[in-house]
Amino acid sequence: MLKTEPSPQTRGNQFSLFTAEQRKWLDKARAFADAIPLSDVIKSDSENTFRRDLFEAACKEGMGSLPFPTTYGGSGGDYVSFCLVNEEFGRRCVPIMSSLGVHVLCQEPIYRFGTEEQKKKYLVPSSSGKYLAAFGLTEPAAGSDTAAIETSARLVGDQYILNGTKTFITSGGSADYYIVMARLTEVDDPGITAFIVERNFPGFEIGQKFDMLGMRGYATCEIVFSDCKVPKENLLGPHGAGRKVALSSLGKGRVTIAAQSTGWAQGALEGAIAAVKEKPASEISAFYHLIGDLAADVEAGRVLTYQAACKIDRGDQDVIVAAMAKIKATDAAMRVSTEAITIAGISGMDPNKLLERIFRDAKAGQIYEGTNQIQRMLIARSLLK
Ligand SMILES: Cc1cc2nc3c(=O)[nH]c(=O)nc-3n(C[C@H](O)[C@H](O)[C@H](O)COP(=O)(O)OP(=O)(O)OC[C@H]3O[C@@H](n4cnc5c(N)ncnc54)[C@H](O)[C@@H]3O)c2cc1C
Repeated sequence: MLKTEPSPQTRGNQFSLFTAEQRKWLDKARAFADAIPLSDVIKSDSENTFRRDLFEAACKEGMGSLPFPTTYGGSGGDYVSFCLVNEEFGRRCVPIMSSLGVHVLCQEPIYRFGTEEQKKKYLVPSSSGKYLAAFGLTEPAAGSDTAAIETSARLVGDQYILNGTKTFITSGGSADYYIVMARLTEVDDPGITAFIVERNFPGFEIGQKFDMLGMRGYATCEIVFSDCKVPKENLLGPHGAGRKVALSSLGKGRVTIAAQSTGWAQGALEGAIAAVKEKPASEISAFYHLIGDLAADVEAGRVLTYQAACKIDRGDQDVIVAAMAKIKATDAAMRVSTEAITIAGISGMDPNKLLERIFRDAKAGQIYEGTNQIQRMLIARSLLK
């Protein structure tokens, strides 16, 4: 790929605290992101098309299973490195960013709860990019309230029969397999249970495709189960352990979202700085306080994000720090992109520029993988208990 439009030198994730190995991932991700022409980023968004070729290229660079051990095809990297990749991808709205994040999110429960056969069958081809994974939790009547899940699973002979609909599934239209949460019925101890569902299983269908405000180009759609036959060996974890399985993914996924949002915020800050520099010299000082304030917002989100990632790497995963990182980084992305467009004026609304896309994508960061309101409740509950 040709190197186009090198990143402007703003502060960014240049901490000297990163190890040589982490910096290697940062440099690799930055080169990957900068090599994608802006016109490709805009096209994927405007045409709402998923770039499977870019996903496979990122996997060839070792980013598809970065934080998993080499035993199962992973790159043996740490979560800080994965966050650096996500931040760089967010900064340039790399059109596969969200799918890559979800892809890693789906490998986590297979790695933690899967059988040896499942690990070999799904993790190895996930790392090479042969398989793309998607995560099916949300339903039309079960968003924040995951306990309201209605998708059902019943055991008949040596297979589970699934019925229901999952909605707003990132990569839903393009994935090869799905981690699906369903309510187990007709067993002694019914509960939410996790399954690995392949797209070619009988009774699996792609439903409505979404033409969203932001996060376009990620094949986001409904997935529908109509008496979908899932072999018994595709049960993921024990019966009734679905919430634990889902939370194992989402606890880390929220840190990934914080990293992506830090990237959006950084990209928007760079847009704001460029727009201020275009102003007549006599007007520039009027923006000093605002730019200083926005830069501090970006950095606050970034520090929390890497603190949460460091805790994961130290084996001390902290859902509260992760929740704080998600709130601060996603809110920073929304605020900085809003102010950057205000500074840029009409050119900030130009659909051929990155800023406009960052603004629309950033809204999703405040919503998915647990809205920021739900994150605030998590933090408060832990403080008040
Ligand atoms: C771009 C995008 C991609 C997505 N990808 C996936 C995916 O791959 N897989 C998947 O399973 N899901 C996915 N989702 C769904 C996402 O996780 C849900 O949108 C999210 O969990 C919120 O659910 P909801 O939209 O139904 O909102 P609701 O739960 O209906 O909430 C609506 C509003 O009410 C607030 N609210 C709800 N309950 C409370 C409460 N108790 N206290 C205070 N406020 C509350 C919320 O914070 C929010 O502001 C995606 C969503 C988007 C936008």
